Amino acid sequence: MYQLLIKNARIIDGTGSPWYYGDLAVSEGKIVAIGQIDGPAEETVNADGAYLSPGFIDIHSHSDRSILSDPKAESRILQGVTTEVTGNCGSSVAPESDETMRQRKLFTTFKEYLDAVEETRPSVNTAALVGHGTIRDAVMGYSTSEATAEQIEAMQKLTAQAMEDGAFGISTGLIYPPSCYASQEELVQVISAVKPYGGYYATHMRNENRDVVKSVKEALDTAKAAGVKLQISHHKVTCKADWRVSCKTTIAMIERARRQGQDVTCDQYPYSASATGLSSNIPAWAFEGGIDALVERLKDPVTREKLKEESNASHLGRWGDIYVATLKSEENQWMIGKSITEIAEALGGKDYAETCFDIVIAEKEEAREVNFGMCEEDIEYIMSQPFVMPGSDGSAMPLDQPGKPHPRNYGTFVRVLSHYCRDRKLFSLETAVQKMTALPAARVGLGDRGVLKQGMWADLVLFDLESLKDDPDYKNPQQPCSGIRKVYVNGVLTAENGVHTGAQAGMVLRRQNHK
Ligand SMILES: [Zn+2]
Repeated sequence: MYQLLIKNARIIDGTGSPWYYGDLAVSEGKIVAIGQIDGPAEETVNADGAYLSPGFIDIHSHSDRSILSDPKAESRILQGVTTEVTGNCGSSVAPESDETMRQRKLFTTFKEYLDAVEETRPSVNTAALVGHGTIRDAVMGYSTSEATAEQIEAMQKLTAQAMEDGAFGISTGLIYPPSCYASQEELVQVISAVKPYGGYYATHMRNENRDVVKSVKEALDTAKAAGVKLQISHHKVTCKADWRVSCKTTIAMIERARRQGQDVTCDQYPYSASATGLSSNIPAWAFEGGIDALVERLKDPVTREKLKEESNASHLGRWGDIYVATLKSEENQWMIGKSITEIAEALGGKDYAETCFDIVIAEKEEAREVNFGMCEEDIEYIMSQPFVMPGSDGSAMPLDQPGKPHPRNYGTFVRVLSHYCRDRKLFSLETAVQKMTALPAARVGLGDRGVLKQGMWADLVLFDLESLKDDPDYKNPQQPCSGIRKVYVNGVLTAENGVHTGAQAGMVLRRQNHK
């Protein structure tokens, strides 16, 4: 007797092979048979010709903290994401130095963190990277100094311990303090600590604007010198003058590296706006010593003047593209959905940089932005490459999340399927599914997910291609996607027609169990 039998589906197995009509049976959370199956089963579902694919794997997630408070993860589940990889852009929750941990009530070791996630019984499967920024913070705080040999050794030790505890690799966020204070030499040494474990290196590069080409070179060189596989995070070009040009160069560089035997892949979110902390518009040197030191500098008239000049110079003509997405304080709620220039206007013609600074002073890390900086041609060019996979750069959120979070949190995977695959015809449906299943599974090293075949965990998405739609948009991001009929995590029905069933059947995936 099967636990579950799905009949008459158009099966897209995730490998890129053409779809075929068939049935799929599940027992004890795993796929036990595919083909013509008669049952009996505890539950039989007639797919009636809908597509059945592996659950989507979001290789670029930031649910590290939110999964602890929101284990149901509606934003992930309702778009068909069944596994996510956290710890990207240099930032993980653990490990922390003992002192920092006591202050913030966090977790000292990576194992403690993973155990805590397991205890919340998340609805999605979770795999995690360890963040270089987090590790550097644990060893040397928000110091802009070059790391000494002892400090590098301490960072290597923490990295190795995180890998022992179950991390799948290491990430950097080279625009964010304190990760950005590291030299390339330091990065090579710290990153090489994941090599013995077969871990990979994911990088939010130093620059995605004017210097994106230089940054891709740095990423390729760093990974090569460290001897590890490379994942370029959310690849994009945000310098308007270089649109339609720079991405041709970066993709050619990646192709060349691959031809020469370097294992490099990329992820990308399918939107022309990015999203990050509003504080990212402030020069990195001002963060030395941490967020409180930053606030002090923003309040000091002389330093503030200097920061204002630098910020305005680097944001010439760009403040109007930056919109406030979320913030906490009651009196600033009116700013949500407005651009920095609109807010400055409303404040009586205030200076743009100072408008941004004062929001950061009031909200600290709680202020987030949506920033329109990319062009569609670049997005499509990058997405069409066989080594590029979707990654939301978003996180687990409920449908009643306040503010206007970036729609990528809720709609990334359905947008790729409905808009770029079905409507824009960039690639076949089989290729689209492969990019969101087998490709990320191979990159992370998840041998038991990402493909529909006997013995694999039954992470499944049943969808109607015609009615598939990424309803979440900038105006109303907190919505389910249309066309996703059913989502199963480890064989358990977790969403049906845009509604979360309440099931919490996800697993915490640890590297040592995936050899
Ligand atoms: Zn990033």
